[in-house]
Amino acid sequence: MNTSAGEAPSAQAPVTNVRILGKPDKESSGTVHIKHWTPQERLLRALKTFAIWFFIALLSVFIPILHFVLVPLALLLAFIFSFMAYGQSSVVLGGSGSCPFCSARLDIVRKPDRWPLDDICSSCSRHVRIEKA
Ligand SMILES: [Zn+2]
Repeated sequence: MNTSAGEAPSAQAPVTNVRILGKPDKESSGTVHIKHWTPQERLLRALKTFAIWFFIALLSVFIPILHFVLVPLALLLAFIFSFMAYGQSSVVLGGSGSCPFCSARLDIVRKPDRWPLDDICSSCSRHVRIEKA
């Protein structure tokens, strides 16, 4: 849902160094960008999420028969997803590093800000654990 141009990882979010762990003896390093939202930004995100799902509920009114299910479902999801958006105070936007096993470039995708992160190397398909350095 973050389509604005200001959402580019390097533009707003500070860089955090991470350790990428394979087995206990395998370790490499990398960086991630972590975005922290202010309470005002969290409220704005929640309102945006609610507005999108409310709009979906409005559009569902025009679908015969299915509107009996879709309208209440979309309204329910509007409340659930907007509360979830408000509750989320930060996110790992992504980053990169090197795989501790095969040394290939490891792209870290956008994830919830819950450490340690888990990822899979796209080159050797092995599981790696990512911790803050
Ligand atoms: Zn690898």
